[in-house]
Amino acid sequence: MDDADRVNNNQSLIDKANAHKSKRITTSYVATGLCLFCDEPVDPGRRWCDAQCRDDWQSENEED
Ligand SMILES: [Zn+2]
Repeated sequence: MDDADRVNNNQSLIDKANAHKSKRITTSYVATGLCLFCDEPVDPGRRWCDAQCRDDWQSENEED
């Protein structure tokens, strides 16, 4: 009984951590119509004008 309770509690903490992390990533990756790195106009739904901007932006914005 106690072991099962402990497992459930740990799992809910993990779920909360994952939900928080994925929310943070989703909001910071939203497409705005402009390159997220250099502000050049890009096609709808794109976030960077090219792979170099994407890589540079990710290296500045990803913590892990
Ligand atoms: Zn760019």
